[in-house]
Amino acid sequence: MKSAPIQDHTSPLNAEQAQQLTALIETLTPMQVTWISGYLSGINASTVAGEVAAPAAPAAQSSVSETLTILYGSQTGNAEDIAEQLKARADTAGLNAVVIDMLDYKPKDLKKEQNLIVCVSTHGEGDPPDNAEELHEFLFGKKAPKLDGLKFSVLAFGDTSYEHFCQTGKDFDAQLEKLGGRRMADRVDLDVDFDDAAEAWIEHVVSTFADDIGGDTAHPTVTAMPGAQAATPESNYSRKNPFGAEVVGNVVLNGRGSDKEVHHIELDTEDSGLVWEPGDSLGIIPENSPDAVAELIAALGVSGKDTVTGIDGEVSLEHALTHQYEITTLTRPLIEKYATQAQSEALDALLAEDQREALAEYMDGRFVVDLVEDYPIAGLTGADFVRLLRKLPPRLYSIASSHAANPDELHLTVAAVRYETHGRARHGVASIQLADRSEESKLPVYIDSNKNFKLPGDDVPIIMIGPGTGVAPFRAFMEEREERGADGDNWLFFGAQHFLTDFYYQTDWLRWRKDGLLTRMDVAFSRDQAEKIYVQDKIRAAGAQVYAWIERGATIYVCGDANAMAHDVHEALLALIGEHGGLDAEAAAAHLKQMQKDKRYQRDVY
Ligand code: NAP
Repeated sequence: MKSAPIQDHTSPLNAEQAQQLTALIETLTPMQVTWISGYLSGINASTVAGEVAAPAAPAAQSSVSETLTILYGSQTGNAEDIAEQLKARADTAGLNAVVIDMLDYKPKDLKKEQNLIVCVSTHGEGDPPDNAEELHEFLFGKKAPKLDGLKFSVLAFGDTSYEHFCQTGKDFDAQLEKLGGRRMADRVDLDVDFDDAAEAWIEHVVSTFADDIGGDTAHPTVTAMPGAQAATPESNYSRKNPFGAEVVGNVVLNGRGSDKEVHHIELDTEDSGLVWEPGDSLGIIPENSPDAVAELIAALGVSGKDTVTGIDGEVSLEHALTHQYEITTLTRPLIEKYATQAQSEALDALLAEDQREALAEYMDGRFVVDLVEDYPIAGLTGADFVRLLRKLPPRLYSIASSHAANPDELHLTVAAVRYETHGRARHGVASIQLADRSEESKLPVYIDSNKNFKLPGDDVPIIMIGPGTGVAPFRAFMEEREERGADGDNWLFFGAQHFLTDFYYQTDWLRWRKDGLLTRMDVAFSRDQAEKIYVQDKIRAAGAQVYAWIERGATIYVCGDANAMAHDVHEALLALIGEHGGLDAEAAAAHLKQMQKDKRYQRDVY
């Protein structure tokens, strides 16, 4: 990054420091500048607040009346969590900040905004999350207003292993500018290991807005980020400070001869203080398998005992590859960084802009070890290699049990991922750790709450659609409703390949049917007959009754595969609302959209 040289006579730096800083700045990307500026303001804030994070002081009195609106669009809750942290930080800087779910936001209000921060994630093929869809559509539609008076910044959440990385954030950022807005801080695109970069961006953006609209930055209070605060066993376990849970049960739910291997896992949560609600997920900080680590070290031709600089300081290469870095998924940024050292014409060619499809094909079904074997780098050390990797991200699993019914145990439904590609056996990181090695040590876990997948009032009827392992949260729903004596009707649509081998939790469902808690259950065993039958076929067949339940105020839940199933189920719901409600396609879509806004159509799909 180019910058004017720092003059030692106009800065508090001495000549040598000024020179060093100028030289460093020239090597930095805009993202690194953002990070460093946030990092420095964090240090500055700690100094002002006095090294030890003092108890949160009351928010500084603000002399400003301008509101800073923070909008979030979030599927799994990350963008929402960061939006909340941003608000807390803005409060302590004396800003008048409000945080709003995009689903609850009237797009027309945009033109009244003066200061706006957007925190938004991206899903599937570059799509916005459910709660951001409407605002996204509005911004790109004919009714999009001029936003000349708007000052804005965007924080984008994504995953570099997807082609359309952070696309929704990029869309918001570009469109807000196009409509006349003024960008206050450059957009930052966050990968799955987003904590540090998000923290830095928050510091940077808050001080930028505070400088502009006049918060009280002279007396900022350091807002502790989740996990940064000291742990108290009752409630403060988090992604950065996970609870070590013991696996006390591990049973395969499939019968012999099934193509699937789904495990029912039970974790001991006694004395953990962990509390969750039905619909929440469990975050697991996984570790890579010893076999995968050994294979990679062999491919690198180095020793696992070599010392490398890991995430928290010096560790052995073997430790870093086991606990700290992702060594399976290939991402474009990783290959790009690797290519700068590989000096391979073939690899450079694969990274050319017009070779995106060829690169996607190469990445499909290959892991980091394949890259190392296919394009070896002579003399690459373990220390050099780990610098190319991204942090091992946590994995989320829908919780399959109710805390109210069973506070000392937490259940998961985990499909073991094992397959073979390009002549090599491949294993899912967390699923195989859970399936095969979970009894070896305690599992670092935390609760990842999901406000967008929650039971309604006890008397409200619910329709649950969850094929395969997507049925997990509905077991928690039913346990909870049983425990609470909730009298709302319950209807389950479940699908799997075979009745005999894949009917997960069959005894639970049958018992609840018998007790009357489960009002109705429709099952679609796709491969028990010549023609495939899926849950959406069962939904279509029961269209009139589903519509009657909707009319009675039912909430509909969908959990499981986002790509095909959730889309097909959505179409089936639109069709039955149209048919039985006497609505054309547009009106049926508006009806379902309204249900979504009213939280009567909730999806937890990925
Ligand atoms: P699965 O056993 O592979 O599939 C369950 C049933 O769904 C099978 O009968 C399958 O039929 C059928 N199916 C296939 N395509 C479908 C479609 N377009 N519409 C409806 N049904 C379809 O499922 P699984 O392995 O448990 O995985 C379920 C998916 O849900 C995974 O992608 C998992 O990642 C995801 N999941 C998400 C969450 C969450 O978001 N919280 C939780 C759990 C699971 P055939 O195989 O015969 O085609």
